[in-house]
Amino acid sequence: MTKFQALAQKYGTPLYVYDFDTIDTKFSALKEVFKARKSLICFAVKSNSNLSVLKHMAHLGAGCDCVSIGEVKRALVAGIPKYKIIFSGVGKRDEEIEEALQNDILMINLESEEEMNRVEMIASKLGVIARISIRVNPNIDAQTHPYISTGLHENKFGVDLDSAKRMYIHAKNSASLDPVGIHFHIGSQITEVEPFREAALVLANLLRNLKALKIEIKFFDVGGGIGIQYKDETTVDLYAYAQSIFAALTGLDVTLVCEPGRYLVGDCGFFLTRVLYEKNNGFKRFVIVDGAMNDLIRPSLYQAYHAIDVEGKEDHATSVCDVVGPICESGDFFAKNIALPALEHDDLLIVKSAGAYGFTMSSNYNTRTRVAEVALEKGEDRLIRQRESFEDVIALERAYL
Ligand SMILES: *Cc1c(COP(=O)(O)O)cnc(C)c1O
Repeated sequence: MTKFQALAQKYGTPLYVYDFDTIDTKFSALKEVFKARKSLICFAVKSNSNLSVLKHMAHLGAGCDCVSIGEVKRALVAGIPKYKIIFSGVGKRDEEIEEALQNDILMINLESEEEMNRVEMIASKLGVIARISIRVNPNIDAQTHPYISTGLHENKFGVDLDSAKRMYIHAKNSASLDPVGIHFHIGSQITEVEPFREAALVLANLLRNLKALKIEIKFFDVGGGIGIQYKDETTVDLYAYAQSIFAALTGLDVTLVCEPGRYLVGDCGFFLTRVLYEKNNGFKRFVIVDGAMNDLIRPSLYQAYHAIDVEGKEDHATSVCDVVGPICESGDFFAKNIALPALEHDDLLIVKSAGAYGFTMSSNYNTRTRVAEVALEKGEDRLIRQRESFEDVIALERAYL
């Protein structure tokens, strides 16, 4: 029996498995290319927010990039030091801002002038000084899927250069704001260095302008977005990526902040699902599995490709099929027109590169219970999230009968 077959038997399916050793390798590789400068790697919590994953990040020395107060609290619970936590996001509520300030995190990343005014007001009310950074939208095409592209003027994120400059001047003169950072995040699953290089140049120039105005920014935050290999795409060369940022920063004394999500956890994750049935309607072969779009929505949402392995049948003859789940939606699929061997009830499929935006995007659609998560570390496996029960799913509902 293979390792994955044993895990499927022990914990049941569908199941997420994360190899923490892979996270270590990825983290070290990034730290290594950044070593010429002070750097802080803030893991993007939204990509995989399991507390054990965050605790592992804390252990590696990472901080966290959070996009809700819930994520900030997760990071704190997991032991991420408050001075390594960044709070980003286009729509922060007053209570979220207040709680972030009370927790004294590293900085709040502002995405509009109005938001700056609210943060200023709340900080003044609390009698604290809010450390802020500003998310600048450099209007650069990251050449990725439109749903995960964020650095164009047509996207809702960040502010344009002129507004950013105005905001920094305002913040510098405010008794309740301390402008410490500058930030861009132009999209996700970016496979080339060029968009990063262009964005870094635009922001470094702004930084020089600010310096001339005696506004000293300490943190240069290049966001996340580093792509991984799902199929046969070549992806970002880390060394070239780091060098392009260093080149933009020549002469500037700043700490480099990077917020990778997918890069750190994408490849560490495997989604295990068992075959229920095969069916052929005369036109098409379907493999129906026990996992579904509520467990892993990336194929349905972004037409994302995930490679699928069938252990133990590698040398069998294959034919083309769609791998689909039990949910009542035609969009419920993991793969279309891929070649797989003939399969039987209980055969195990391994959907690869499922560690980022997998479990965190899962739901209870069709009253399916969210699946269990397991960590693999130095050959040992442990449960890091219990499978939900039907009772868990209905626990917060009130039925007035
Ligand atoms: C989503 C997000 C990230 C992480 O993106 P990846 O593509 O997973 O690396 C980083 N920073 C911000 C502000 C984000 O919204």
